[in-house]
Amino acid sequence: MDNRELWTALDMDLEKHDDFLAPIPTVFTSLFLDRPNRPKGMGYFDTVVGDVHGIRVHELYAKKQAGGKVFSTFCVYVPEEIIVATGSASIGLCAGAQYTVPSGEKVLPRNLCPLIKSTMGFKLDRICPYFQVSDWVIGETTCDGKKKAWEILNKYIPTYVMELPQKKETKDVSLWEEEVREFASFIERETKVKLTAENLAQGIETINNKRLALQRLADLRKHTPAPIHGLDVLLINQLSFFDDPVRFAAQVNALCDELDQRVKEGIGAAPADAPRILVTGTPQPLPAWKLHALIEQAGAVVVGEETCTGERYYKDITERADNVGDMLTNIAKRPLKVNCACFTPNQGRFEDIVHMAENLKADAVIDFSLQFCQPYGVESYFVGKEMEKKHIPYLRLESDFSEEDQGQLLTRIEALLEMIRV
Ligand code: SF4
Ligand code: SF4
Repeated sequence: MDNRELWTALDMDLEKHDDFLAPIPTVFTSLFLDRPNRPKGMGYFDTVVGDVHGIRVHELYAKKQAGGKVFSTFCVYVPEEIIVATGSASIGLCAGAQYTVPSGEKVLPRNLCPLIKSTMGFKLDRICPYFQVSDWVIGETTCDGKKKAWEILNKYIPTYVMELPQKKETKDVSLWEEEVREFASFIERETKVKLTAENLAQGIETINNKRLALQRLADLRKHTPAPIHGLDVLLINQLSFFDDPVRFAAQVNALCDELDQRVKEGIGAAPADAPRILVTGTPQPLPAWKLHALIEQAGAVVVGEETCTGERYYKDITERADNVGDMLTNIAKRPLKVNCACFTPNQGRFEDIVHMAENLKADAVIDFSLQFCQPYGVESYFVGKEMEKKHIPYLRLESDFSEEDQGQLLTRIEALLEMIRV
């Protein structure tokens, strides 16, 4: 089966899909492939993007043909270990393309975060093969926009919603643990696979290994000169939600071996005196590359992301246990260490930002919110205050997935870099 046969089998709108994909090779070449000093290990990730709607979708389709299931998720709180334990696939589907925003706006208010509109648009337009190959969407009650969007999305694809508490008190932890257990039962019912100590331990191990590989990569960025561009790491983080977890972890580790060598030899992706930037805020799902591209185009290097397409996804791993009950408890515990702005209060996030800025020797923090994102937009107040207190240069930016404001954003980033350089 070639790609077009596959897309037809998945009931995709081929004409629209061609239109959507047409500019991507040119954009990808200029942003990624044409850049100097890229590690060779990026070759694998470039290939994955080069055939982003091909190889991996064929694998998922084959899994379904063999009786397996595909679950799509939209938040780092959804426990993919449980899905993977049953031999099913877990795919992170948050979308970051302006192309599908107008379609999303047909059923959602215009003044809603572009991530939600873009995601909805991909389903309505039938141009995302990952959506089309999915049996279920797993939503969560994080922000209000997502929570209500699931009700609409459920009209187009079966949508299961996990209730995430908004605080982290003892009773909230119990509620979340209960929610994780119910989710485990749901996955068992849907996949007709019973969770056992063996398969769940394997699921935990697989996802832990993926997170450990990403931690290793993140840690290498603390070196001066930075051995890899932030834009390349963002791409890897974005692909971590799509790719086969075992193969992905092996490729990230192979890249890290190469970066270890670069560090030893003092080879950097950017000059040693390039300003080092930590990005915090809302996630930047595939293919939202604008912010990192602009920062690095201005001559800086992004050395870390306190976001869900960064540190929040991989900073903690699930502790091992020897029976299913304790494993589910540990699976529930891990994401509650993630400090998303959907929680109140969220003091841990400010501590995370400061810790990362110090560890990565960041010269400045850029706090980025997607337009109309209330949790991160409002929380910026405290991020700014904390940066002021710690005397860390700070810039707050708000944008969407369009290209219209690139000039404006670049001017503000350049002003920040000038300030750092003096
Ligand atoms: S920002 Fe919050 S709601 Fe969004 S993916 Fe991350 S944890 Fe989930
Ligand atoms: S970016 Fe903000 S508004 Fe958008 S889905 Fe995430 S938390 Fe919700």
